[in-house]
Formats: sequence, C-alpha cells, structure tokens
Amino acid sequence: MIKKKILVTGGAGFLGSHLCTRLLNDGNEVVCLDNYFTGQKQNVVHLLDNPYFELIRHDVTMPFFIEVDEIYNLACPASPIHYQYNAIKTMKTSVMGAINLLGLAKRIKARILQASTSEVYGDPDIHPQPESYWGHVNPIGARACYDEGKRAAETLFVNYNKQNNVSIKIVRIFNTYGPRMQPNDGRVVSNFIVQALKSEPITIYGDGTQTRSFQYVDDLVEGMVRMMASREEFTGPVNLGNPDEFTILQLAEMVIRLTKSSSKIVKKPLPPDDPTQRQPNIELAKTELDWFPKIPLEEGLIKTIDYFASII
Ligand code: NAD
Ligand code: UDP
Repeated sequence: MIKKKILVTGGAGFLGSHLCTRLLNDGNEVVCLDNYFTGQKQNVVHLLDNPYFELIRHDVTMPFFIEVDEIYNLACPASPIHYQYNAIKTMKTSVMGAINLLGLAKRIKARILQASTSEVYGDPDIHPQPESYWGHVNPIGARACYDEGKRAAETLFVNYNKQNNVSIKIVRIFNTYGPRMQPNDGRVVSNFIVQALKSEPITIYGDGTQTRSFQYVDDLVEGMVRMMASREEFTGPVNLGNPDEFTILQLAEMVIRLTKSSSKIVKKPLPPDDPTQRQPNIELAKTELDWFPKIPLEEGLIKTIDYFASII
C-alpha cells in the first residue's frame, strides 16, 4: 500500500535524486519535477521503471497544479558558477518558486519543506552558526541572488504559516557532497576529485585557509525525512550539516591522498564574498529530530571518489 504521494521539485538534481530514491524505498509515490537546468534525467534513470515514480519537466517560476500530501522544494541551482550564470533567474526561482509552491500547499493542504541553506548566514561573524543567528550577507554582492533569494523564501514560508496556516518545514543545509554531483558542477568536492582523478592541478581559491563543514548526502536525506515527519509546531529553521570543520587545503590534501593522485595544488584568486568559515551548530536537530550525521568525511569521500572514477 502506498503511504503518501510526494512532490519533489528539483528532483532530478544531485540531492533531489537521492531524496526521490529514499522516498520511493520508503513505500511512497513520488512525482519529480525539474526544468533540467543543472539536473538531468540520468540522475533518476534508475527510477523510471518504478510505476510509483513520475517525472515532469516544469519550471517552478510558473504555477503548477497537482494533488499531493507533501512537497519538498529543492528547485534552485546550488553551485556558485550556476546560480551566478543568470542571477535574476536564480532569484525568481527561489522567490516565485516559493510563492507558487506555497500557494499550491495552501490550496491542497499539503505539508511543504524548503531546502534553505547555510548561505543565509553569509560570511558569519558568529561561529559555529546557530539557527538564531541572523547572518552577515551582502545584499548586492555576487552571491546575493542565491543568499537573498533563499532568505526571502524563508520569509515567505514563515508568513504562509502564520497567515494561512500552511504546514511548513525549513531546513538550512550545509555543504553536502556525494555521488551524482555533476563533474562540471563547480563545487569544491567535485572539482577536487575530478582534478585528482585526471591528474590535473587542484585549484585552491585564495590561500585555502577558509573552512567548510562537509556532510555526506545520505546523512542529509535522513535529516530531511525526519524533519518532514516532525511535530506540526516544529517549523524550523533547523541546521542540517556535519559539524566536522576542515580548511579547503586540508580537503585538497585528503583528496590527493585518497586518490593516490600525482596532482599538484595551484592557487587561484578567491571569488568575491567567499565566506571565510562555516560550521553548523546542530543542537536543535539533535534535540528535535534525534538526528546527527554518521558518515565521516574520509568515508564519504571514498564513496564519492568511487562514483567519479566510474563515470570519467
Ligand atoms: P542541483 O543543482 O544538483 O539541483 C537543483 C535542481 O533544481 C536541478 O535539478 C535543477 O535543474 C533544478 N532547478 C533549478 N531551477 C529550477 C526551476 N526554475 N524550476 C525547476 N527546477 C529547477 O543542486 P543540489 O545540490 O541538489 O541542491 C538542491 C537544493 O538544495 C537547492 O535548493 C540548493 O539550494 C539546496 N542546498 C544544497 C546544498 C548542497 O551543498 N548541495 C547546500 C545548501 C542548500
Ligand atoms: N573552492 C576552491 N576550489 C574550487 C572550488 C571551490 O578552493 O575549485 C573553494 C571556494 O572558494 C569556497 C569553498 O571551496 O571557499 C567551497 O566552495 P563551494 O563552491 O563548494 O561552496 P560554497 O562556497 O557555496 O560553500
């Protein structure tokens, strides 16, 4: 018996494809919606034979009508090179996408979860970042189309909840990596692994002392599913990330070691507004969701390296 009918926007992307797989494995019916800007059919090809899986090409900036019990809103490019390619479109995707999907959730009385981001904290002056921190974001900088779009989406979610009683959930996702990232995605983990496997130079932007906290995709998906199932009054936002913090230089050295690569490190200019540090405080997720990440960076990197080695 089918448990729930669930819409996943951005479902053909990196995270969305893992989420669709998990939700189907849990016995749900899944509708995956995507405009294939950064996602691709290949990411969900393993699901196409499943009669409880449906794939729809659609852009969330346009209204969409369907009857479902739950909506996961992941539609939005996540890599800086992709979200800066068409900054206006990125902001439209976050804001108009949120309006369209919240309107849908209101009409059909579905619960809706927003994939927000640690980028709402900008270049943080509080470390590690708790959910109560308001952030330090440049509203006119290179990253603003993404950061401010996601911040506006959070505002819309909270107000649809207050004004219209829509059942909302907000997760703030910290850097997540794993199989099915695109080799040309541009984010640091995929860049370093692809460069190492091809024996090309490893490109460190800046001096490599900036930090990130990297979470393996399976840990994140578990957190998102738990958040969707959490008590009605707990709307979030809740941080989902792995608190183990690494410098970008440490990441480069680990990737070189694990791939046994002959690649050398080269330094490139630091992109504007690049946050200097990032580490989640996950006390809230531990208390409310009984969730914490289980996969250490080295273990997750080995699985991700195996994946990239199989496709390039
Ligand atoms: P991704 O680029 O692989 O996936 C995004 C998906 O959304 C793609 O399939 C893309 O084609 C689709 N999409 C983009 N614009 C759309 C539109 N207008 N209409 C319909 N579909 C559209 O990135 P990802 O890493 O899988 O990220 C998924 C979500 O999680 C994003 O909302 C992102 O902001 C959020 N997030 C990811 C991370 C991370 O580290 N991976 C961190 C924080 C937040
Ligand atoms: N980065 C790097 N080399 C790359 C890609 C990224 O040094 O080839 C750096 C980037 O400047 C940032 C960090 O790695 O400091 C994480 O970048 P990513 O784009 O993965 O995510 P975000 O900056 O959004 O956290």
